[in-house]
Parts: sequence; structure tokens; C-alpha cells
Amino acid sequence: RKWNSFDESSSFADESTRKARKVADHYSARSNQTLEEREASPIIHLKKLNNWIKSVLIQRYARRGDAVLDLACGKGGDLIKWDKAQIGYYVGVDIAIGSIKDCRTRYNGDADQQQRRKKFSFPARLICADCYETHLDEYLSDDAPFDICSCQFALHYSWSTEARARRALANISALLRPGGYFIGTMPDANVIIKKLRDAEGLTFGNSVYWISFDEEYAHKKFSSSSPYGIQYKFHLEDAVDCPEWIVPFHLFKSLAEEYDLKLVSVKNSHAFVDEFLKMPEFTELMRRLGALGDGNQDRSTLSQDEWDVAYLYLTFVLQKGGESTTR
Ligand code: SAM
Repeated sequence: RKWNSFDESSSFADESTRKARKVADHYSARSNQTLEEREASPIIHLKKLNNWIKSVLIQRYARRGDAVLDLACGKGGDLIKWDKAQIGYYVGVDIAIGSIKDCRTRYNGDADQQQRRKKFSFPARLICADCYETHLDEYLSDDAPFDICSCQFALHYSWSTEARARRALANISALLRPGGYFIGTMPDANVIIKKLRDAEGLTFGNSVYWISFDEEYAHKKFSSSSPYGIQYKFHLEDAVDCPEWIVPFHLFKSLAEEYDLKLVSVKNSHAFVDEFLKMPEFTELMRRLGALGDGNQDRSTLSQDEWDVAYLYLTFVLQKGGESTTR
């Protein structure tokens, strides 16, 4: 299958797409870390915890042979997780051309890697596009239907305008088969807004992150105006430094219903860890990843500040209507 890149000049016309470009530039500029650099990261255990959360979601919902659509796939950090789930086909889409290139390298394996590990067992197509503007439903119609759509740590980039939030859901709904699942992780707006209310000013955080609202956006949140475009700046050491948007979950849930996507579950990451860390197969996975010490609720290797960042996120599962299969 051929590689696609999109025409940047025509894709970034108005204010919202200009902001999307800013996000894309940020992620494109982030270079691949060596193993040593990664292990030295101040948020290494948070990264491992997030990998565990994504692995649990994937293991619970993916089935052998599934066709998977990974929206905002980044550098392909989840490819191995999908491989373990023995999926049959993978399409990854990301707005950042640098990330798509890294993802391609990871998928193909560089010269060294090719000798060390076997290739991924599923065919893949990787595309550079704005998932919240492009009509992926038309563009990927030959690849559809998908059994699973995944959007990890990225759906909040669609809430800059109502049109983009709707485009995201229209794409997902059109490309999923009846009964297919939409799984993901994104910031927990309830937690962020509570922290903003408790903060003395418009900024709060700890040693590894800070969130800062402009006067204009903080005011917007507290008034009853549009729920879209509530912007804040998010900085996470060694990871993120760009504008993001609040996604009020109850509104996301109702909007998704308009696209025949019904909520199956939503959990803050803390509750998610509490629930799934008890299960032996996931305890073992946590032990292997090394995010939480022994994996028996002991957070000795994860700092309190990293654990506080985990609290800023939630996981969600939605199901496309039309068939009552359960997983
Ligand atoms: N999903 C990957 C993961 O979990 O490792 C990457 C997560 S990273 C925090 C956020 C990703 O969202 C970045 O790769 C970024 O380029 C991508 N992204 C942001 N806005 C996007 C958009 N409008 N369309 C497609 N990808 C987008």
C-alpha cells in the first residue's frame, strides 16, 4: 500500500486549522529518544503507566484478525501492543509528518531492528492527515469497516471548534462496523476544572506539569457560553508543550450519541488502575513494564507528582450501534 502525505498549504486555512498546525509542529519536532534518554526521563514511570493503561484497553477489546484504525497514532508506540493482540490490519493517521515518518521506521524496522525482531505480522497503512478536518470516511472507505477505532491521548485536540469535534465523531462512526468499539484516553475535564477552581490564579501544576488558562478561556468555562474552544496550555516535562482544549465529558457523550456511538464505560485513570491492577494478567503486565513497583498497588517507583498527572486523564469505551456483540 502506498504512503500518503497531505497538501499542507491547502489544509490549514482558518484559525482552528492554524492552531492544529501549532499542535502538529510541536509533535513533529519531538525527536525519538534513545533507550537511555527514555529511562532518564522525569516521567518515565508515568509513560510506563500510560502504556499499561493502553495495553489493558487493547487486550480487553481487540480480537485476533481485527481491522484497527488508530487516530493520532503518533510515532507508532502502540504498534507492538496491537501486534500482541494479533490484529489483521492497521491504519494509523497523524497530523504530524515527523511522527508518521518515525511510525513508518518503527513499522518497517531500521537495519538493526530488522535483524533483531521479526516484522509486525499485520499489514499497515500510515497516513499524514488532520483527523478532525479530513473526510476520512471518504478517504478510507476502501479500508472500512474497522472493528476498532483507537484514539489515545489525542481526542481533546478536536474540541477547538464544534465542527472539528463533529468531524472526528462522523469519521469514527462512518468507519466502524456495527457493534465496533471506539476506545481511547483523554484529559478528564472534571479534574482539570476542579483544579482550576481550587487554584489561586489561572495556573496550577507540580514538578512535572503545569496547566495555564488565559483569562478569556477561564471566563468562558465559568459562563454558559459554547463548550468548544475552551483552551489551556499544557506543559508536561519531557513530553508535551502545546495548546489543548477542554472536553466536557457529558457533552462528548451526548454528541457521540448523535453519531450512533454509545458509551460503554468511562473511568478516571486512578479508578482504571484500581480496577484492573487486581487482575492477575494485568498485574503481571504491570510488573513487566515496571511502572508501579511490584505491581500490587505499590507505587514506589512512580512519584506522587507523576501519579497526580495520571489523575488528569480518563479512559473511555464507546460502541457503534447496530449489533449487540459484547467484549
Ligand atoms: N496516540 C499516540 C500515543 O498514545 O502514543 C500519540 C499521542 S500524542 C500525546 C498526541 C498525538 O496527537 C500527536 O502525535 C499529534 O501529532 C496527534 N494529533 C494532534 N492533533 C491531531 C489531529 N488534528 N489529527 C491527527 N493527529 C493529531
